[in-house]
Amino acid sequence: MERAWIISVGTELTLGQTVDTNAAWLARRLAEMGIRAERHVTVDDALEPLRDLLRDGAGRADLLLVTGGLGPTDDDLTRQAVAAAAGVELELHPEIVEQIRAFFATRGREMGERNNVQALVPRGGRAIPNARGTAPGVFVEVEGTPCYALPGVPFEMREMFDTEIAPRLRAAARSGVLLSRVVHVVGPGESDIGEVICDLMQRGRNPEVGTTAQFGVIGIRINARGDTPEAAAGLLDATEQEVRGRFGQRIIGRDQDTLATVVGALLIETGSTVSTAESCTGGLIAKELTDVAGSSRYFLGSAVAYANEAKTNALGVPGDLIEREGAVSEPVARAMAEGARSVFASTYALSVTGIAGPGGGSIEKPVGLVYFALATPSGTTCRRVRFGSDPPRAVIRARAARAALDLLRRELLRASAGESP
Ligand code: ATP
Repeated sequence: MERAWIISVGTELTLGQTVDTNAAWLARRLAEMGIRAERHVTVDDALEPLRDLLRDGAGRADLLLVTGGLGPTDDDLTRQAVAAAAGVELELHPEIVEQIRAFFATRGREMGERNNVQALVPRGGRAIPNARGTAPGVFVEVEGTPCYALPGVPFEMREMFDTEIAPRLRAAARSGVLLSRVVHVVGPGESDIGEVICDLMQRGRNPEVGTTAQFGVIGIRINARGDTPEAAAGLLDATEQEVRGRFGQRIIGRDQDTLATVVGALLIETGSTVSTAESCTGGLIAKELTDVAGSSRYFLGSAVAYANEAKTNALGVPGDLIEREGAVSEPVARAMAEGARSVFASTYALSVTGIAGPGGGSIEKPVGLVYFALATPSGTTCRRVRFGSDPPRAVIRARAARAALDLLRRELLRASAGESP
């Protein structure tokens, strides 16, 4: 068993009212047991399209996993569609009716007539117990391909998969495992990264390597297949080392690491603290830093100084400096960082001032222009970055926050290595 299709059923999913988290969760679980989710499909609550999709999937995949549409209402049609795809009738199982009745009784409620449909099982298939809800899952073979239908409610689905289905799949899965790792790189764009590792990204290579971008941080995903977890991990390690060798300090970490967690760890390691003075990022850097539990150990505070007067009153930036140089300028960025370092008495202070757009740009100071400064015990450094005027405001702000955190990260790496700036 190598290839699976995951089918998510529900009009609220296709309309975008609910985000399909089930498919992603199932795909990760399958990968851990060496089964690749080759296709994720989302369909409406409609019988024929789902039936046809299941038949199509049965011809192309080794496993079909369906979630949603097992409820008692008229728009819950998965049971019927699965039976239709298998070409069999649904049969009422009285013992399942009793189980559902008992489930309601434990909650002090009476089972309604409608719930009888949840005791229907395709002939030749079987019901899968649901420890967390009323709707049992369904197993049936569609043209010889195993097909499992699970409830849509995520916690019911997860428990049913882990306890009732995963053990069977593990036994049937091709020997071997698929392990994944993501290495996060900051700085270059996704296409530049693609060029640096194009040899590693070739199709059919094991491990497979691919990239995803999110606001200035690129994730390099490595998927390795091996006969044993150790073999797959060894392949991951080798490719990770290769990637690290090519990007050096531009790599911020892997898997759950973010700029904020890495910066936090380095601040703890070096026994230092940080504060921020934010204009165009409006507190985003402080938000990212404080998203990390325990950040009170090193994050002291932030001044969101948007108006010129706020830059003067909260951070001591001289009014005539702002007047002369403009609020978006290197001298003001430097003065903001130095002001925050002094106001908050922190080891480091980061500042950001820029033009997030869409309006407010000029020829000399276009939208997307951002100055960052970092005040340190040994002086202040400043960087000027142009993020381009195309990205929406939210993207410029998010990228600016990440770039500022990266400025601090690089300084902290130098400090922890005992280098002078
Ligand atoms: P129930 O017996 O509770 O009705 P069901 O199998 O019929 O179970 P659905 O009615 O399809 O499940 O979905 C129930 C709820 O579960 C949805 O309202 C939605 O909040 C959530 N849900 C369904 N499918 C998904 C999915 N793919 N990802 C995330 N949440 C989902």
